Amino acid sequence: MMTGEQYKESLKDGRYTYLDGKRVTDPANEPRLKAAVQAAADVYDSFHSDDPDEFNPIYIMPKSIEEFRERERLLAKGRGDMTLGTTGVILLTLVTAAPELAKLKPVYREAIYEYIAYARKNDLRCAESITDAKGHRKLRPSKQSDPDFYVHVVDRTSDGVYINGCKMHISGSSVGHEQVVLPTKAMRPGEEEYAIACAVPVNAPGVSVIDTTYAPYGEQDPRNFPVSGHRSSPEGFVIFDNVFVPNERIFLDGEVQQAAVLAHSLGLWERAAGVTHGGAGLEREVGLAALLAEANGVENEPHVKDALATLVIHSTMCKAAGEAAMANGQQNEDGILTPSPLYISALKYYKNEFHSKLLDILHDIAGTLTVNAPTFADFEHPDLHNGLEAMLATSTLSAEQRLRLFHYLRDTTADAYGGWSFATGQLSGGGQHAQRLVTMRHFDMQNAKSLARRVLEPAHGDEA
Ligand SMILES: Cc1cc2nc3c(=O)[nH]c(=O)nc-3n(C[C@H](O)[C@H](O)[C@H](O)COP(=O)(O)OP(=O)(O)OC[C@H]3O[C@@H](n4cnc5c(N)ncnc54)[C@H](O)[C@@H]3O)c2cc1C
Repeated sequence: MMTGEQYKESLKDGRYTYLDGKRVTDPANEPRLKAAVQAAADVYDSFHSDDPDEFNPIYIMPKSIEEFRERERLLAKGRGDMTLGTTGVILLTLVTAAPELAKLKPVYREAIYEYIAYARKNDLRCAESITDAKGHRKLRPSKQSDPDFYVHVVDRTSDGVYINGCKMHISGSSVGHEQVVLPTKAMRPGEEEYAIACAVPVNAPGVSVIDTTYAPYGEQDPRNFPVSGHRSSPEGFVIFDNVFVPNERIFLDGEVQQAAVLAHSLGLWERAAGVTHGGAGLEREVGLAALLAEANGVENEPHVKDALATLVIHSTMCKAAGEAAMANGQQNEDGILTPSPLYISALKYYKNEFHSKLLDILHDIAGTLTVNAPTFADFEHPDLHNGLEAMLATSTLSAEQRLRLFHYLRDTTADAYGGWSFATGQLSGGGQHAQRLVTMRHFDMQNAKSLARRVLEPAHGDEA
């Protein structure tokens, strides 16, 4: 297993990655990428072992809900690291789809398991390279004005294929080691060259990554940016320009009917990653609202008690749905556990739909200091300190504690990272329309209608 330092060194591999108009050759020392690298390095250190048989629990592919929960428990200390999360999602996606792909060619399943063993042995972090540029959304890939709007095969030899195109918004691309490329959606006959799933190293010839990040510009007092100041992850436009993929890293090549299997598996695990911890995350927001209410002395006001109860019910329902999604999961032919798409998509929809309301409640209880709390530098200025301390302290919190609370609230809900987080919650894993579609696809409407039809029978009318 790699140490944090070895991981940092491993990123100096000649990759072509760009940020703010310049090429970055050492992400660990790039001001707006180093927080992401450091977060990943800390996680490498926290899991490190010299035992050659040990490996990070992210490479465990769970076969039961107990194994899934144990894996979650082991991974809890790695949650601040985006690259660990994307590695888990993409490898689970591959094993979920493996049996279906094996029906086309057994070699696809072998390639998937061999690849996971390779990533585990070398302790590599993998990006989920799925979302294509897509161009005109109503046109099929082969009808676009530029064929590169979707990643596709442009050449092939007996050793492998060459691919072109661009994948967008790919989290952690420039601070990880591998791009796992999957088709973004179902493909049709005639679109064989777009039905390509494979893995390539980030430093493969022809791969370039153009980063964006919400990491603050310049040196910032981390107390004013308590989350975004030390936890940020870049997203990348990943350009593939005649990139060679050897046969052993190809998981699908040309079988259009199975492109959707990969896209659906990815959607499921991506949404699951966003919501299965939803309840736990929301409990912190409930606690935040309660502390803010106490600090303002309004915790017993009827409208505040109502608002807190609304948050508690929401958080509890999200936690319950996350549990239900795993408890109602299924095993594929290889025995790999997959969450219930019905519960996952319904939960994601419900959580997103409520998110604006949650922010309204938090901001209403907190008041305008949410956006106007003085910086820590002003708070510590000798001319200002005593006055600010007198105005900010309350019976339940010191002035400094109150400032910490408000800077956390502003950073996570009302500033650059807060905006990113809000939009990401809505968009990642597909928008609300996608959640509705998947929920409806998996809901047993026939059963629902047969229950309702009983009302039509006079003898059973009472049951209604
Ligand atoms: C912070 C962040 C990180 C991300 N990380 C990753 C990542 O690591 N890997 C990855 O692959 N993706 C990633 N994504 C992408 C994300 O998960 C979604 O897949 C992506 O945002 C959706 O694609 P799009 O933005 O092109 O929007 P679209 O899917 O094109 O949607 C835009 C609008 O067009 C509509 N629409 C689209 N197609 C059609 C159609 N054919 N007919 C009618 N209406 C249509 C949609 O309903 C929607 O209203 C990330 C996104 C964010 C915000």
